Amino acid sequence: DSLSNKIAAGEVVERPASIVKELVENSIDAESTSIEIALEEAGLTSIRVTDNGKGMSQHDAVLAFERHATSKISNEHDLFRIKTLGFRGEALASIASVSKISLWTSDGETEGTTVQIDGGVVLEKSDAAFRKGTDMTIAQLFYNTPARLKYMKTIQTELGHTIDLVNRLALSHPNIAFKLSHHSQIILQTSGNGDQRRVLNDIYGMAVAKKMIPFSGENADFKVKGFITLPEMTRASKNYMTLIVNGRWVRSYAVNQAVLDGLHTYLPIGRYPIAVINVESDPFLTDVNVHPSKQHIRISKEGELLSIIKSAVREAVKQSII
Ligand code: ADP
Ligand code: MG
Repeated sequence: DSLSNKIAAGEVVERPASIVKELVENSIDAESTSIEIALEEAGLTSIRVTDNGKGMSQHDAVLAFERHATSKISNEHDLFRIKTLGFRGEALASIASVSKISLWTSDGETEGTTVQIDGGVVLEKSDAAFRKGTDMTIAQLFYNTPARLKYMKTIQTELGHTIDLVNRLALSHPNIAFKLSHHSQIILQTSGNGDQRRVLNDIYGMAVAKKMIPFSGENADFKVKGFITLPEMTRASKNYMTLIVNGRWVRSYAVNQAVLDGLHTYLPIGRYPIAVINVESDPFLTDVNVHPSKQHIRISKEGELLSIIKSAVREAVKQSII
């Protein structure tokens, strides 16, 4: 019902960036190779996400906004080997309850569909010619929850959160072409050619990207690969370390600390690097089901992983400074 959707919205939908995250993750789960995000007023007026993924059938296009209607988990076994970014089927219901949505989608097999939803209520659903893929606009965010709207910071702050998010999603998916724009000004554009270093280049510029040092290490359980700057080079804050586990961007204080430990074996403490750390492991060793935001991860044998990261970084830094 609409009240429980609004309550759930409080957990999943904190600010424009959290909506962009849910929409883009849906596009990624739909196997898109191109994802465009266009914002007006940092997303408070409008967030439009256009993809070339699987799209939805007419039936699924309305079902997608029902709570717990996920197409991604079909049995209990799936729940323990989550490959998709979404799996709770809560995001769209929550977002729909606090905004006005207009959706165009087609699975390329049946007739395309357009759906208009206001505050969770379906106003219109009709046939519409549309290519395969999905185009969703979230307008007037929090128009019916003014208390939440009041918590929004400045346009610059909200935009900053979204840019940061899209940077990290682009880094975790170098094989997807991303385009982020604000009032039709392009902020980030990646090629989708699969080269993570090129994405670093698109985000941080050539001067920084070409000086990033590759590192790698592995054991039977984990494979680690990444890039790091020597901290003298940049004025990065703590927030410039991006951890990607099995293709999913997650946060881990312990991993950041392991990177810093490896770095500071040879370099002075007090400066931070720009770094991207890719970890591959059996999904059984990782659990992202800890919090609805799916941003926190529980890693079995974490100690092993931390020591691989620390020594990989230490060796790479050592090679580059001798
Ligand atoms: P979840 O991602 O947890 O399954 P969501 O509420 O985010 O739940 O989305 C509900 C459903 O809507 C998804 O399971 C998917 O079937 C469909 N969907 C949403 N966005 C897209 C998209 N861009 N392309 C194809 N299907 C989508
Ligand atoms: Mg989702």
